[in-house]
Amino acid sequence: MNSPTLEETAVADGTNKVSRRRFLKRLACGSLLAMGSPNIVQAAFSGFTAHKNLSLAHHHTGENLTLTYYEQGRYIHGALDEISYFMRDYHNGAVHSIDPALLDQLYDVKLLLGVNKPFHIVSAYRSPETNASLRRHSRGVARQSLHMEGRAVDIRMEGMSANTIRKAALMVQNGGIGFYPQSNFVHLDTGELRTWHR
Ligand SMILES: [Zn+2]
Repeated sequence: MNSPTLEETAVADGTNKVSRRRFLKRLACGSLLAMGSPNIVQAAFSGFTAHKNLSLAHHHTGENLTLTYYEQGRYIHGALDEISYFMRDYHNGAVHSIDPALLDQLYDVKLLLGVNKPFHIVSAYRSPETNASLRRHSRGVARQSLHMEGRAVDIRMEGMSANTIRKAALMVQNGGIGFYPQSNFVHLDTGELRTWHR
């Protein structure tokens, strides 16, 4: 089976019938089914709805947010604002707009996991000050982190291994996917397609 292109994996876009067909063909090849979720094929089919929603729980602030952020072919600005606030730098309260494409990545991963549990947000937007501070204490923090552009998020999910989340993200094949098993989270971003393991 050939490697899929980004276009072929644009599963969240209900207007792209070719992508849908190619994606479902990939499902039939078994790599998703091998992940062991009985809901996974059903989840993939349900990806072609006209609206997208997310449930989020913030690991540090204790806040929860469930909302529809995309409807009838467009993003809902008020919802994006709510998410941007939710994903603020929890160290100092700084708010930055969150890339809607990042939300679509989360949404696609959720569909592939076939569950309706909230993503636990370990880290999302980081102000330059916070990023610099974290860099002083951890070698796993990049100088030009996409967290500083509202284009990255670190996630985990209750009852779901980080490795399973990583596998679903790999199937989505969008942006960066970092696997941090010791800290039990997966980093997603909207940068170049790439993967790493720490
Ligand atoms: Zn990260």
